[in-house]
Amino acid sequence: MFKLARFYDDAVTGTTADIAGLVDYLKTFDALYIWGAGYLGDAVGAKLLEIGVPVTAYWDTRHESLASLHEIPVLPTFTSRASPERTGVVFCISSSFVMEHCLSELKRHGFAHRIQGDMLYAGLICPLDDQSTFKTCRDANACDVYTCRKNEYFHKRWLGVPENEPGPSLYFKNITFVINQICTLKCKYCYSYTNAYPDESRKNFPLAQILSDIDKTFDAIDGVKIVPLIGGETFLHPDLSLIVKKFLEKSNFGILNVTTNGIVKIHDRQLEGLADSRIQVVFSNYKASLSAKEGDLFDRNVERVRASGAQVIVMNETPQWTVPTTLWDRNYPLETMKQKRRDCLNPLICKYVKNGKFYPCTVADSIYNIGVADYPQDYVTLDADRSREALRGEIRTLLARSYFDSCRHCDGVCGTTGVTALAGEQGHYEVVKLPMPTRLRAAQ
Ligand code: SF4
Ligand code: SF4
Repeated sequence: MFKLARFYDDAVTGTTADIAGLVDYLKTFDALYIWGAGYLGDAVGAKLLEIGVPVTAYWDTRHESLASLHEIPVLPTFTSRASPERTGVVFCISSSFVMEHCLSELKRHGFAHRIQGDMLYAGLICPLDDQSTFKTCRDANACDVYTCRKNEYFHKRWLGVPENEPGPSLYFKNITFVINQICTLKCKYCYSYTNAYPDESRKNFPLAQILSDIDKTFDAIDGVKIVPLIGGETFLHPDLSLIVKKFLEKSNFGILNVTTNGIVKIHDRQLEGLADSRIQVVFSNYKASLSAKEGDLFDRNVERVRASGAQVIVMNETPQWTVPTTLWDRNYPLETMKQKRRDCLNPLICKYVKNGKFYPCTVADSIYNIGVADYPQDYVTLDADRSREALRGEIRTLLARSYFDSCRHCDGVCGTTGVTALAGEQGHYEVVKLPMPTRLRAAQ
């Protein structure tokens, strides 16, 4: 009997998938919708049609402009000609910013039969095998390299990540390296809180410190799948090229994402080294919030980086953006902090290295670096003279903590408090100071 969970497991391990069983299973629904008509939904929809699965329609917030894809209509989300119990939904939303929100909305509308689009892609389309490299993932624009379980399974195998050594292995999905705290934009809901830094902290970090952090981190860990290189704005760092070349000396990471907002002057010397099979230059797309002149600069920069031979990813204009937590101390009791830590995905997927320190999440990083508080147990110091074994032990201890003091400051879920409609909206969002009660503000 066909089991969807088994199909997913086979997809992850690259085992031949039960395609006939999948087709029969998908045909049992009275209606089958693909949620998300982006790159993933496009590829999965085409494949389902090819193997004989009738797709009723796509769901997408851009239904009016898209109208149809593969001659299948694109409809508003949650429109179904069948009851939710008899409807299958192939979930093809790959943006990790909004995924959790979308999943809870799906549940709220009563659609219980969710088929993971990324797993269909991994099992039906993805060519990765033991003869491949991470270039396969880098070049596949339909799937999310971050969340993909298949590339992680293969990467660990290629690196020979030990399963049985004492303590958990130090293989991570993601370690974000932050090279500066300055930016050319003022995104109101910047996940790095770049707007919130005092003037004296708005700077590029010293090259020597960044190079040492790269050495210390990569020598201490077993491996990491994705390394986002972020700021602020990365192209404001004059030594970007030397930093990138240092990363490329390391063999235990999959892909380096050099992230930019695209609204910056790019110098020729910064492009050196970017044309490498393990690098993507990722343009965050905030054009909907920017002027026409800025939009032109963005387009020119995309073309310029592309012309240098680097692989360029221009993000979709995300229809929703998360609102990061404020950072003041909320005085949560210990049990609440522990619960937050237990429920939080950030230490699992979003570790940060910044200016000589390793943090479990961006909230802990920002609380320290903005100067809200200093909790020495919420980070590991990457001292140049600390041994590999000492650092491994400290990183394990950090990540095994049942709560961080930073969790006492952290509102919402996983460091976010909701969603907003406009990516890259410019403006100010107070995160450091508790707002004054309205009656006191009125009396001022
Ligand atoms: S990220 Fe890589 S392994 Fe995962 S589905 Fe895409 S190409 Fe395959
Ligand atoms: S501070 Fe917030 S984001 Fe960090 S681990 Fe705690 S709950 Fe998660």
